[in-house]
Amino acid sequence: SIPTVQKKIVLLGQSSVGKSSLVYQFCKGEFFENQEPTIGASFLTKELDFSTHKVSLQIWDTAGQERYESLAPMYYRKAAAALVVFDLNEAYTLNKAKDKIQELSTNGEPNMIITLVGNKCDLERRINSEEVKEYCEENGIMYFETSAKTGKGVEEVFQKISRKFKLPKK
Ligand code: GDP
Ligand code: MG
Repeated sequence: SIPTVQKKIVLLGQSSVGKSSLVYQFCKGEFFENQEPTIGASFLTKELDFSTHKVSLQIWDTAGQERYESLAPMYYRKAAAALVVFDLNEAYTLNKAKDKIQELSTNGEPNMIITLVGNKCDLERRINSEEVKEYCEENGIMYFETSAKTGKGVEEVFQKISRKFKLPKK
């Protein structure tokens, strides 16, 4: 059978930016307009098939703890990648995301893949993408824009990250 690489991915960012919605859209192809989706388990899994191997993602979503600004480093311990999410229509969520990226660069796993995700691109945006892209280039992180509502860009985020997860060399 085809070998499988298992990796932990965490989502970080302000409350209401759409973290749970992104996980739901990617793992189940569903979106909830008014209701905050409740995630019973602490993570959802999704398998991606590459020709030489499979990548099994363990995607961790917060259970609302981010409201109290007390997401313990425990949460992102041993994570291979972090999706730091902000809302393209709420400028302050970008500042918070930048703080998080700073924190991850200092306290996160040394080789953690950090990505910045601007969500809700289906709405009228209030954030200039060019500035965000510049920030990401300077800091060597990937940048994506998504809509958990329409699904736009969602698959691509996880695909691009997963492509970097190679089989351990024999
Ligand atoms: P979380 O607190 O970061 O997990 O955010 P949620 O996933 O609970 O989403 C917060 C609210 O934003 C919910 O009402 C969602 O329906 C809505 N939402 C999430 N993503 C999108 C999106 O891409 N577009 C739009 N229009 N609404 C979204
Ligand atoms: Mg949530």
